[in-house]
Amino acid sequence: MSDLTDLYAEIAVCQRCPLGSGRRNAVPGEGPETAEIMFIGEAPGFHEDRQGRPFVGAAGHFLDELLVSIGLGRQDVYICNVLKCRPPDNRDPLPEEIEACRVFLDRQIELIAPRMIVTLGRFSMARWFPGKLISRIHGEPKRIGGVLYYPMYHPAAALHQSRYRADIEQDMLKIPQLLAEASQVAEGRPEEKPAEQLSLF
Ligand code: URA
Repeated sequence: MSDLTDLYAEIAVCQRCPLGSGRRNAVPGEGPETAEIMFIGEAPGFHEDRQGRPFVGAAGHFLDELLVSIGLGRQDVYICNVLKCRPPDNRDPLPEEIEACRVFLDRQIELIAPRMIVTLGRFSMARWFPGKLISRIHGEPKRIGGVLYYPMYHPAAALHQSRYRADIEQDMLKIPQLLAEASQVAEGRPEEKPAEQLSLF
């Protein structure tokens, strides 16, 4: 078993918070261990809890469309959530649940070691952009260490309110360029495009 599969096995039996007792399936995340880009959503919903897979409901279908718009598919990216178990009635994650689950997300990030992390929605954004408003900073990348963090609206936002749709679509279209640059910087060729310039995109 790989370290990632070991981690999935741990998540599957986790009782670190009360959500563990209400789940049908834990939803650890999925995608290749070698993915250069990682998408982090909020928490599993009804369909994810049923299937044990992230983003398989309506928001997931939209995420798939967004990926196709930049020439990517599920097989190219790693997708997971801040919480690995579904909160009752899809309520917002509680701070103590986020804290209890944090150890799993930390290990996923460590194992995948992505060049770029896309946060989907305010709960995953909050960790790297504390105190910021998603309406202000969506689509603006920030480099921390060797990783480029990129905040986007949650795809479900576009399903509920169409005014978010264009923003999400446009933010998505910036990813290929950012990812190419993030990879160059990670490979030690920052002189071709200084890291500061990334904030211009
Ligand atoms: N919303 C999320 O944040 N994650 C999922 O996996 C599905 C919907």
